[in-house]
Amino acid sequence: MKKGILLILSGFAGSGKGTIVKELLDKYDNYALSVSATTRSPRPGEKDGREYFFKTVEEFEDMIKAEELLEYARYVDNYYGTPAEYVEKMLKDGKDVILEIEQQGALQIKEKRPDALLLFVMPPSVDEVYNRLKGRGTENEETILKRMRQGAKEAEVIGEYDFLIINDDLDECVKRVHNTIQSAKYATFRNMDLIDDVVKGFGEFFNKH
Ligand code: 5GP
Repeated sequence: MKKGILLILSGFAGSGKGTIVKELLDKYDNYALSVSATTRSPRPGEKDGREYFFKTVEEFEDMIKAEELLEYARYVDNYYGTPAEYVEKMLKDGKDVILEIEQQGALQIKEKRPDALLLFVMPPSVDEVYNRLKGRGTENEETILKRMRQGAKEAEVIGEYDFLIINDDLDECVKRVHNTIQSAKYATFRNMDLIDDVVKGFGEFFNKH
């Protein structure tokens, strides 16, 4: 079975990346979602092992020392990281594994795993980013402005990603993300083993003829 592709999905707060991931998992059976470890406290309704593996700082730092994490970052006073074992297992099983992570982690993965595909999700305009954060109704104006400032910083690094995903119409966007991922699998640099086989195949052909 062919190995799956490692997918990084980042995006501004309010970009709808969480919804896109959920739709991808619901609609197609080739995806698996990596569950991260974090030192932040669970929000109401979050369950250990489902949204995150909730860890103490000490436990998290032990995971770093034991090199159990594929990447990790500090974000708004907390640690967040991707346990490597599950990701590697799922990739071997042929699944396309989604990491929904922020930019520092995404850039670490890009260094370590040049075959990973990096996608950045954003609403059609900056006004729309603000409107969506406001529309959630869960944060006060000060927090929304903090997130907008964070977004402004993130915008400067978008060029490091492979594809920009504009989240205008959700259904269309999910189809586009899926098609982008499936096409990217056929990039020549991700298929050097196949190309080697073809070259060898020609060698064998001319040995016989
Ligand atoms: P939240 O606390 O809102 O769940 O997540 C905060 C940010 O951390 C989000 O941008 C989320 O994508 C990111 N994040 C979640 N898990 C990981 C991880 O394993 N590694 C990194 N680098 N970022 C993560």
